[in-house]
Amino acid sequence: MTGRSIDGKAIAARVRAEVADAVKQLPGQPALAVVLVGDDPASHVYVASKGKATIEAGMRSVEIRLPTDTTQDDLIAKVALLSADNDIDGILVQLPLPKHISEPAVLAALDPLKDVDGLTEASAGKLVLGKPGLRPCTPVGCVILARTERPDLTGANVVVIGRSILVGKPAALLFLEQNATVTIAHSKTRDLRMVCRGADILVAAVGRPEMVRGDWIRPGAIVIDVGTNRVPAPEKGEGKTKLVGDVHFAEAIKVAAAVSPSPGGVGPMTIACLLRNTVLAACARRGWPVPEILAAG
Ligand code: NAP
Repeated sequence: MTGRSIDGKAIAARVRAEVADAVKQLPGQPALAVVLVGDDPASHVYVASKGKATIEAGMRSVEIRLPTDTTQDDLIAKVALLSADNDIDGILVQLPLPKHISEPAVLAALDPLKDVDGLTEASAGKLVLGKPGLRPCTPVGCVILARTERPDLTGANVVVIGRSILVGKPAALLFLEQNATVTIAHSKTRDLRMVCRGADILVAAVGRPEMVRGDWIRPGAIVIDVGTNRVPAPEKGEGKTKLVGDVHFAEAIKVAAAVSPSPGGVGPMTIACLLRNTVLAACARRGWPVPEILAAG
């Protein structure tokens, strides 16, 4: 048996097209501000592609690039300024921040109504309480990918490997909202392989290259690979690297009904969901009706 490879790029393109349609229906143009501190090359690439996608969706993109030696107080002041700026609808602080800056301290300065990454305490609290709010982008992307394969997740056994604030915990809560039966596994979980084999839907958010092997997967399961790990790729030449997921794709696709690859699965969904959140944030804050095309899901 060979499963399907879930085409995250195509599904993300669909979400982005929906966002662009929704933007056309709004009485004004939403704006997304992305703040980047430091010179991490990968972060610069992410920020540039977020800015490009924002403009392509018909929204205004504001990029703020600050030097590595920016102080915590200066960054907090910048985020507070953006929070108070009525023309800005969404704020994303690109993580990770340089070591001398406390992420929670910076996130505390962010207006929860503009928290398009869904990372503030207020957003996390709303998720736990089941109240409407801005949900973290990557976990929302995981749920959308799983639902393209299985639209009704009621009663599905979901195993999420990883319990980070960014991915694992919110992913587990979002699958719970879909009436799935959710298990959260982590580094202290006993017999992880057997826990995973119980999953109808297996979400790997660990950060360990190709840790999930074929025999960890129940035949016919859906596998969502969140991991992005850079590993040596001697086949591409000396000193070259490549990105791989947390799932051994070649083994997984032989057992599962469907596998989201990494790269090309969850990654593109994260940006699409960020754009979606920006529209939702603008509507909530400005009192605009949410366009029907985004209201459903
Ligand atoms: P993280 O904060 O490092 O969390 C990793 C989680 O995996 C922790 O909960 C940890 O358990 C668990 N873990 C580590 N080793 C394990 C093991 N041997 N067995 C079982 N569980 C283990 O990472 P993260 O921020 O959640 O990110 C996870 C992965 O997703 C990374 O590869 C990251 O690059 C990727 N990611 C991708 C996107 C995207 O848009 N595609 C977005 C965000 C993250 P403990 O809590 O017990 O330590």
